[in-house]
Amino acid sequence: MPDYLFTPQPLASLAIQGSSKRFAVHRIYCVGRNFSEHAKEMGAVVEKGNPVFFMKPADAVIQAAEVPYPSETRDLHHEVEMVLALGQTISEPMTLDNALQSIYAYAVGLDLTRRDLQALAKEKRLPWDTSKGFDASAPISVLVPASETTISPDTRLQLHVNGKLRQSAVLGDMIYSCAEVLVALSKLFALKTGDLIFMGTPAGVAALEPGDTYIAELEGVVSLSGRIV
Ligand code: MN
Repeated sequence: MPDYLFTPQPLASLAIQGSSKRFAVHRIYCVGRNFSEHAKEMGAVVEKGNPVFFMKPADAVIQAAEVPYPSETRDLHHEVEMVLALGQTISEPMTLDNALQSIYAYAVGLDLTRRDLQALAKEKRLPWDTSKGFDASAPISVLVPASETTISPDTRLQLHVNGKLRQSAVLGDMIYSCAEVLVALSKLFALKTGDLIFMGTPAGVAALEPGDTYIAELEGVVSLSGRIV
């Protein structure tokens, strides 16, 4: 080990279903506007061209049942998303034929967003980091290895808050498929094992308040429940 000036921060890592091993997180990529009904509710023009990407820091992941309400916002929003976890580095750029081989596991997560800060950033053409990349902004379920489950265009992604359905769509509604997102990302970044990709959210994003409980589901695959504190 190099002679570090101080003890490095621990690696962010995630639990894996059916395994005592942990998935070390390298980077978190997020796709914006991947469901047309959500893009419309955010006032964006929907046209299939290049996907919109942004990032969160690796240590934004949180697998605890209690998620802290972040500072400096009065409008914390939920975005339920399917998450891909990469377990194989493929020579790049990927192709539509080999991209899916890089997926080690699926999960469901929340792309938590300080919507008020994001609106301000959009208005002033400023970056999204403070609205998207804050601490604990990426609650995520246990990872389910791709070898132990199947997803299809009919697989439903949904979120209940305090028992009420807030967001629901099937994966077939995504504008860009998993393979298309991986190919596009691999042209921009060197994708590595340990990368997570948040695949975008359906319509119905809304506010979370302290005390709210949520259940995010990738139906038939995995679910994530928690509470904002
Ligand atoms: Mn999102």
